[in-house]
Amino acid sequence: MTERVLIIGAGHAGATLAGLLRQAGHPGPIELFGDELDLPYHRPPLSKKFAEGELEQWLRPMEFYQDQDITVRLGDRVVAIDRAERRVHVASGESYDYDHLVLATGARPRPLPVPGADLDGTVSLRTLADARILRKCVAERRRLAIVGGGYIGLEVAAVARANGVEVTVVEREERVLARVASPRLSEILTAHHRARGTRILTGARVVRLSGADGRVRAVVLDDGTEITSDAVLVGIGALPRDELAAAAGLRCDQGIVVDAQARTNDPHILAIGDVTRRPLGTGTLVRLESIPSAAEQARQAVATIMGDVPTAAEVPWFWSDQFDLKLKIAGLVPPLPRTVVRGDPSAGRFALFHHDNGTLIAVESANRAAEFMAGKQFIASGTRIDPARLADDTTPLRDAILH
Ligand SMILES: Cc1cc2nc3c(=O)[nH]c(=O)nc-3n(C[C@H](O)[C@H](O)[C@H](O)COP(=O)(O)OP(=O)(O)OC[C@H]3O[C@@H](n4cnc5c(N)ncnc54)[C@H](O)[C@@H]3O)c2cc1C
Repeated sequence: MTERVLIIGAGHAGATLAGLLRQAGHPGPIELFGDELDLPYHRPPLSKKFAEGELEQWLRPMEFYQDQDITVRLGDRVVAIDRAERRVHVASGESYDYDHLVLATGARPRPLPVPGADLDGTVSLRTLADARILRKCVAERRRLAIVGGGYIGLEVAAVARANGVEVTVVEREERVLARVASPRLSEILTAHHRARGTRILTGARVVRLSGADGRVRAVVLDDGTEITSDAVLVGIGALPRDELAAAAGLRCDQGIVVDAQARTNDPHILAIGDVTRRPLGTGTLVRLESIPSAAEQARQAVATIMGDVPTAAEVPWFWSDQFDLKLKIAGLVPPLPRTVVRGDPSAGRFALFHHDNGTLIAVESANRAAEFMAGKQFIASGTRIDPARLADDTTPLRDAILH
């Protein structure tokens, strides 16, 4: 077992895997390659804490990697995989052999395909470097337009607004979070943001960004509306960084396709994190972008490399902070959910339970940790609930279970 493991991508998934693999007793070399210059860091604070405080929240200090004998190679990009020779090539010209290769290359912000998107003052948010630019934008400017009402856009909107910035969110769909949240949660969050002074436009299509002297000045919509802004955040989703895998002939379909144990179609290559599409529940392939999912797949990869018992599937979950709302979501919200509301959305303390004929499928909660935890367990165990009892906040959660 002196097999050499190379991990491409020093983000959450890659760095977690490196640590877990050593913890599990892998005796061979572990090398982590990252094209960013910074040590692996937490990305969630980038959209939640960019206005103030420490942005550089390392996953582990440098000493950890030294103590664990994990080689970290930063600021160099892996440019090719030679599967026949089991070797990777990096931009600086070196090449490295592997026994196991793990691709953890993450995702990149989806570019806004309109004229003017490259004007100065237009930013996206994925890296520490992006967050530093956004911090400067928010400190210096008074009007921020956010293209895209997804989680990152709404989190940035909340922080900017709380810091006195004039914020407009422009969403192409008929509601914010259309792809990931239930209509009810979209409605509640829209009201919450609007009540705090954020302008939210839905069904609004951006056709160009206009500027002066190379700087962005306005977001222009297809109906001619111009939203004057000193900075623009583009938050319209992320694309998997699967080009390296695709060029090496690995199976890709909007992400690297893996099985429930992080294996690609090459027995020597695994893939984990945001770059992957993997089977969940009924076997449907999904691409999740979340820390818990990256960590779960890191554990799957450890089991596969070590030849251990495969890890059991977990219920996907996610969190988001928007103003005073600590949101926690478990399960995948179906397109047309049947929803039970427990608690008081207008007071910012509620849980939305989505079910299919009583079988719980997903829960979206705000400031209701007990409901989130119970909901996640109910989803995992396929528990059936009585909707009327669940909706009654005075009924203990356990009494809403159907036996
Ligand atoms: C602003 C923001 C807020 C978020 N908030 C939350 C949250 O609240 N909760 C939550 O669960 N999730 C959140 N996420 C999502 C979460 O951060 C990601 O799911 C997680 O980082 C995925 O980890 P990863 O390792 O797959 O990808 P990444 O963390 O993106 O790491 C991939 C790394 O690989 C590098 N790389 C790519 N290609 C190469 C190459 N060829 N050679 C070398 N290096 C390469 C990239 O530069 C990057 O450093 C947030 C994400 C962002 C951007």
